Amino acid sequence: MPTDYYELLGVKRDATDADIKKAFRSLAMKYHPDRNQGDKDAESKFREINSAYQVLSDPEKRSQYDRFGKTFDDASSGFGGFNSSSIFEDLFGDAFGSMFGGRSGGNPNKPRKGGNISVNKVISFEESIFGTETEISAPQMHTCETCSGSGAAPGGIDTCAACHGSGMRTVRQGPFTMQTTCHVCGGIGKLIKDKCGDCSGAGYTQKNKKLNIKIPAGIEDAMAIRATGEGHCGANGGRSGDLIVNVSVMPHKYYRREENNLILEVPVTFLDAVLGKEIKIPMLDRSEEKVQIKAGTQFGDVITIRGKGAPDVHGRGKGNLIIILQIMLPTHLNEKQKKAFENIAEVTDDNMYNKNKSLWQKMKSLFK
Ligand SMILES: [Zn+2]
Ligand SMILES: [Zn+2]
Repeated sequence: MPTDYYELLGVKRDATDADIKKAFRSLAMKYHPDRNQGDKDAESKFREINSAYQVLSDPEKRSQYDRFGKTFDDASSGFGGFNSSSIFEDLFGDAFGSMFGGRSGGNPNKPRKGGNISVNKVISFEESIFGTETEISAPQMHTCETCSGSGAAPGGIDTCAACHGSGMRTVRQGPFTMQTTCHVCGGIGKLIKDKCGDCSGAGYTQKNKKLNIKIPAGIEDAMAIRATGEGHCGANGGRSGDLIVNVSVMPHKYYRREENNLILEVPVTFLDAVLGKEIKIPMLDRSEEKVQIKAGTQFGDVITIRGKGAPDVHGRGKGNLIIILQIMLPTHLNEKQKKAFENIAEVTDDNMYNKNKSLWQKMKSLFK
């Protein structure tokens, strides 16, 4: 069923990048497969919003979408739905020159570097911590193998007669002579008499590029991975561009990351906080970490476990796991339990609490 990407994300057509990212994050949280296990509707919704985000978060793809597509149904590919070659040609057919980076005036025979391919990839929080490998698939321009990029059929190329192959012409104006670019061949010095049948004279063809990309452990949201030389081909023997994978990390249900530290809020019962207890923390690698809750633990107390945080993406060690303790108080007491608490209340006194004495005294006199 065709769907509008803006509608899918619930944003206006003039939404900013930040709006789009925010909308995507909250929807992704809602429909994430981890949260909706076995729910097929949620799964397909998740895939749809993911596709919408891949297109709308990329300025180039977003403007293509705005110009050409009210709707695209198939959006399951990593390229956000532009995997149909006919759509691709419509989009890039006449703008082919812009596929090259660094195009400038001057000698048209000068080697030019190919354009970059930019792909968005959404990974889970766990994948960002432990690293992952993913297959990227995107349309790529590459030098036509039949004509080696010349655009001409075998023997189909002629030296430009107007400039004798130099690409330049000498023009006399009174006593002056000036060199100008040959208007017949555009400065190339050659003319294609017979176009290459495989690329229709362009010198390039489009292929679906598939590439395995290693996403390193510790990668953070909004980081990008660059695969040098894996982008579009260059012209006149110029280098290929790069493939750039823009990585978005899904938020986790419980863990969050601050720099290389992992933060986890852990609920403990007030009795465990009062009396102390060893508890087990579920770690991201599915192991368990034993943590001692000290007797007399207060609300918001923090336990730091060194070296159990996220790995630094540049390999500079690991952060810490920071556990913030949330103390749960009972809300439902039966008669028997209520009685027991009343018994405790009879034997309590102020000395049980570690308090700021002066403030405590002031408060007491206030409420007397
Ligand atoms: Zn060709
Ligand atoms: Zn010429």
